[in-house]
This record gives sequence, C-alpha cells and structure tokens, in this order.
Amino acid sequence: MITEEGILSDLVRIKSVNPPGGELEVAEYLKDLFDREGIESKIIHISPGRGNFLAHLGEGEKKLLYLSHTDVVPGGGGWEFDPFSGRIKGGFVWGRGAIDCKGLVACEAYALLKLKKERLKGRLTFAATCDEEGEGKGIKHLIQNYPDEIGVDLVINEGAEGPLRIGPNTVYLMQAGEKGVLRAYFHAHGLSAHGSIPALGENAITKMARALEELAKYKPEVILSPEVEEMFWELLGTKVTPQNLDCVVDSIEDKKLREYLRAVTRMTVSVNTIQGGVKVNMVPDFCSSEVDIRVMPGQDEEYVKEELEKAVGENIQVEIGSFFPSSLSPFRSPYTELIQRTLREVARDDAVMSPVISSAATDSRFLRRMGIPCYGIDILEPSISNLIHAPNERMDIKSLRVRTDFLIRLAQNYLS
Ligand SMILES: [Zn+2]
Repeated sequence: MITEEGILSDLVRIKSVNPPGGELEVAEYLKDLFDREGIESKIIHISPGRGNFLAHLGEGEKKLLYLSHTDVVPGGGGWEFDPFSGRIKGGFVWGRGAIDCKGLVACEAYALLKLKKERLKGRLTFAATCDEEGEGKGIKHLIQNYPDEIGVDLVINEGAEGPLRIGPNTVYLMQAGEKGVLRAYFHAHGLSAHGSIPALGENAITKMARALEELAKYKPEVILSPEVEEMFWELLGTKVTPQNLDCVVDSIEDKKLREYLRAVTRMTVSVNTIQGGVKVNMVPDFCSSEVDIRVMPGQDEEYVKEELEKAVGENIQVEIGSFFPSSLSPFRSPYTELIQRTLREVARDDAVMSPVISSAATDSRFLRRMGIPCYGIDILEPSISNLIHAPNERMDIKSLRVRTDFLIRLAQNYLS
C-alpha cells in the first residue's frame, strides 16, 4: 500500500545533497510512481544527474500549482543515526529533508495520486524542482522553457517555517513574502613580512578582526511595512510603531519568535566565512570574508554597499555579489480566504492562519516576480519546526496526513 510516510522514507534514502544535487534520481522515483498509478508525467533534464519532475491532472481555465524541491542540504554532524536512513519510528519519518522539503514532495505526490479519479474542472500541476538550496536552477529552467505549464493562478509551496504556539493557540503561518538575499565580500589588504618581526608587515587578519568588531555595533534601520505591522497584530495582538518595536520584540520570551520578528523588521548581516594568510611564519597580506545579507523591501545593492562601508570602515573593501530583491504576494485576497477556509476544514475549526513574511528565501520569489501569487504552507508539529537544516530532522506522520488532506481539499475547493 502506498502511503505518504512510505514515499517520504523512500525519498529520504535518495541522497540528493546539494551540492552536487543528484535530484534526477528523485525525479525518476516519482516518474516510476506516477507511471504505476497511470498519471502522465515527465522528467525535465537540466544537467548530468539533475532535473525537475512535472505532472498535471485535469484541464480547464483555473490553474493551481503545487511546488516543492527535491534537493537537500548536507547531513552534517550530531545525528542519532544515519541521516539518510529514512527510518520510520515513534510516529516520525527521520532523516535529512524529512521537513525541508521532501515531506512536502511526498504529500503533493500523494495528493495527486488520490485526486486522479476526480473530475477536476481546472488544471492541477505538481512540480518538484532541483537546486532550490542553490541558485534555483530548477525553477528558473521551468519558467524559461515551460512558461505555459508553470503559468498558473496560484502556487502552494514551502516556506512558512512551521506553526507557532502562542499562548493556548497553534497559529499556522502562511508565507506570503520573503526578504531579499544579497551576497557581499569583505577584503582586507596588508603587507607580508617575516612572522618574527611582525611590525615590519601589515596584518590583514588583524584589520579584518577590527572591522568585524566595528560591524557588530551596526544598527540596521527598522522598517515597518503595513504587512509586518499586520503580522505583529495577528501574532501578538500588539500595535507596533518604529518607536516601540524593539521594546515589543525584546519582551518576547520565545527566542525563536523573538529573533524571527527582529529579523523581518530590518536588514541582517551575517559574516559566515573567513579566509586569510598562507603560512604560520608569514604576516598575512590578505583576509576575505563572505557575508550573507537579507534585505528589506526597497533596499538594493547601492544601499547595502553604502551601509556596509560605513559600518566596517575604510580599511575594508566591500564587494557586492549576487542580489535578489524581496518578494510579496497579497496578505488578503480570495486566494488567502480559500487557503484559510481549507485549513479550517482539515485542521481544527478554530485554526488560525496568519500571513507572514519569511526571513529566508524559497523558489516562490521567482514566480512572484512573474506576478503569480505564491503562499508557503507548512503544517507540522510546532516542536519539530526548528529541525530544518539541523541534526535529527524528522517529520511526524500525523502532520503528513493533515497536509495531504489540505492539498486534496484545496484542489477540490478551487478546481471542482
Ligand atoms: Zn526548502
């Protein structure tokens, strides 16, 4: 018997770690599954070992897309067992990608299998893409080469970071927007000399260290969009202004919620790699860092460069790399009402769904740029939502069922 947890367990065992990817094997697994169930589908090859999976059900004016991705981040350390075992134990499917994002791949695939006999009056598309954890090569390829198949009214994707427990309530999050992503590089230059008389040289590592200390004092501007104001109201029942915002954020006890709300109200700057020097007895003449920057709406390369140059001082050369601006779908629309209504049908009657802006980026940003409304819905146990990209990632089977149910009902509600 085919089940969501069975599919997920199989998918986790396929080691599609990006880099290098190897998502083709996932696409082949899905193709085989759909072939056996008699649903037409295809694999779209992109490069050796990499590709997307695409399937459709029904035909008609209305078009709905279920999106997910098939690559995962490396296993990393600290696991209780093999992160690619896909083992099912204690009501969970364990392993890398169980939440991000193979859990959703499994539910979307299973929903299509369940819907195959229904007479949908519109088209339901399922796309499982490669390289979401990289540059989004998979979704970009679909947008460029399959615009008709990917051109839809509404997209359901990952991205909501799981529900929050606020007081007695479980609040499901609906990701309606994302911060922008910018990569920057810091370079410090010095003068090489013998390590025994360091004063004859100019130490680039020391320069970088001083600059990073200065950067730690940088206070990014607080930006309060109407959407973020609404989020605070929905999540905390608090009216925030630029003046009281930090006070409100600081008073939140739950660290995850507190730092999330801090992150979505300002640009964040995180220096995540550093490299300098070549030998222990030589004063280093260079030091470089890679910097992960997440920007607010309206902040562009020029703004970031200016802010960083002010923050690190004149001894550091700031280089701006790739940039993708923030993206947003309407917080309130007939689509969001449909999503909320469907959630109430499958979860509890009093289920609250709050639209949010995410601190991280997903494939939705590329589709939002085409004007397609995208919403990330992650229905899962609140206690496991912080295991994304972490050791002992696992997905509870109960949530898999609710999530599949949600996807089936949403397609029925919209397309029947
Ligand atoms: Zn993901």
